[in-house]
Amino acid sequence: MERVLIIGSGPAGLTAAIYAARANLQPLVLAGGLYGGQLMLTTEVENYPGFPEGILGPDLMIKFREQAERFGARVENVDATSVDFSRRPFVVRTADEEYHAKTVIVATGASARWLDIPGEEKLRGRGVSTCATCDGAFFREKHIVVVGGGDSAMEEALFLTRFGRKVTVIHRREGLRASKIMAARSRSHPKIDFIWNTVVDEVLGETHMTGLKLRNVHDNSVMEYEADALFIAIGHTPNTGIFEGQLDLDEMGYIMSPDGAETNIDGVFVAGDVNDIRYKQAITAAGAGCRAAMEAERYLEALEFTIKETVAS
Ligand SMILES: Cc1cc2nc3c(=O)[nH]c(=O)nc-3n(C[C@H](O)[C@H](O)[C@H](O)COP(=O)(O)OP(=O)(O)OC[C@H]3O[C@@H](n4cnc5c(N)ncnc54)[C@H](O)[C@@H]3O)c2cc1C
Repeated sequence: MERVLIIGSGPAGLTAAIYAARANLQPLVLAGGLYGGQLMLTTEVENYPGFPEGILGPDLMIKFREQAERFGARVENVDATSVDFSRRPFVVRTADEEYHAKTVIVATGASARWLDIPGEEKLRGRGVSTCATCDGAFFREKHIVVVGGGDSAMEEALFLTRFGRKVTVIHRREGLRASKIMAARSRSHPKIDFIWNTVVDEVLGETHMTGLKLRNVHDNSVMEYEADALFIAIGHTPNTGIFEGQLDLDEMGYIMSPDGAETNIDGVFVAGDVNDIRYKQAITAAGAGCRAAMEAERYLEALEFTIKETVAS
């Protein structure tokens, strides 16, 4: 029987593991196929406090893991394949095992949607990004392209005007999905221009991005377009497939937690990008992991106190 079982090993899951381990709860972390989470996909992280020179994403996550293991967290590199939160103890299954736990912390993160076009994967971190807050500062005085037409694409474009000499929004339709105010702000910004009815077919470049192959969706005409960076802002998908029917999810699939780390099931807590549609940063995920572990600890204390009281009476 686990006292704390954590699903996910990004900044949220591993911070929860550090706190739960230091509270002597010997948490078990099901780290998932992609141990370390999204930061394993990036190079330099310059905004995580405590590293004034910056740190490579994978190096940062190795430190998170070492710190959790130092205090007794056990990390298994496996995916949870199903859960049953209707029973107590809770049941979490992997391909080969069935675990029973008094509390579960869900920290399965979210995956940015990519375009799945040639050149995109090769040039990730070399011009191609899904996070302006993370990578915008690498493109000072450069020509930056943003793909997308919703509010978050406009937010990214406006943010990127602080760095780029020019920001071009490419959208497959004529007109934006974004709210009126965000659309108006970006349309009136002197550094932002738009290319409508156009999709990106390929990212060009060998060691870093040098341009894009664009296609007009009406007449299928193709052109090569010079640019230094591509920010893809077409949304994220929360990793919540296995929680459907078990936890309350919003219309986009994010786990609902109206009151901080708690979910609709007592004893199941949530942390990180899997319920964060707004910030999606390593530091906010880590903070949420800390909060979830402290809530799990309080929950266990109350549970164990109730059991003692029941036995005593
Ligand atoms: C390319 C890139 C660069 C970034 N750069 C920065 C940056 O510079 N600064 C910054 O602050 N943020 C950055 N971010 C954002 C940051 O990585 C995320 O906000 C942060 O990782 C979220 O942490 P998390 O723990 O909530 O989720 P994630 O990091 O997404 O981790 C989720 C974990 O859950 C696991 N998982 C999923 N499903 C299961 C399952 N069924 N069973 C077991 N495990 C499962 C996954 O394998 C993964 O390990 C970047 C993101 C990307 C993609």
